[in-house]
Amino acid sequence: METPFDKINDPIGIRVAAGLSRLALALKTNTQQGAAPHGLSPTQSQILALLRNQVEGMRPSLLAQSLAIKAPAMTEALQPLLARGLAVQTPDPEDGRAKRISITDAGFALLATIADWPDALLETVADLPPLEQAVFYRVILKMIRQMQIQGTIPVGRLCVTCTHFRPNVHADAETPHHCALVDAPFGDRHLRLDCPEQSPASPDAAEAAWRRFLETPPPAFPV
Ligand code: SF4
Repeated sequence: METPFDKINDPIGIRVAAGLSRLALALKTNTQQGAAPHGLSPTQSQILALLRNQVEGMRPSLLAQSLAIKAPAMTEALQPLLARGLAVQTPDPEDGRAKRISITDAGFALLATIADWPDALLETVADLPPLEQAVFYRVILKMIRQMQIQGTIPVGRLCVTCTHFRPNVHADAETPHHCALVDAPFGDRHLRLDCPEQSPASPDAAEAAWRRFLETPPPAFPV
């Protein structure tokens, strides 16, 4: 049924994009406020947070991929971290021509004083019921995937583009997918955005897996 709101409102797609823009702006401002007192940009604080769990370090290209930024921007962000001794660059043991970046003790110490995610965002998401979180996460995955196809953001280490990902192969609606590497079933809520074991599937295989993943509709969203 048509209502007057159909005429006075912008289309819902525009309002969704506007809402996301407002969230992104708030997130950027919040992250800047957390990192700026320490002389870091939001990207630099995210780099340190990523390196925290990588004992063998990461190549700059992988860091750029994980944070969905371009290589020149990563190079620019790394220079001050290396100059300040918050991160260190060493030869990659697997490839003599490549380098790896690791966090230093000074980087750990600085990171301990700043939050890597704005508390407000974590609290806001945690307040959502589990079902809404699961639906939201699936929508975010779809948007990331679409932006990767468009070339808006670099390809990341997602489950849905991994050679080990087997979408919708189990009858259990809670855990319909399978990771062939771990050899275990898992559900939408377990899908990873940045898995260190991810092995990129070919574009055709990734597209086929993505289509199969989307065959199962998300759980009904409570309104
Ligand atoms: S190896 Fe990692 S990215 Fe690949 S399916 Fe398993 S959990 Fe997902």
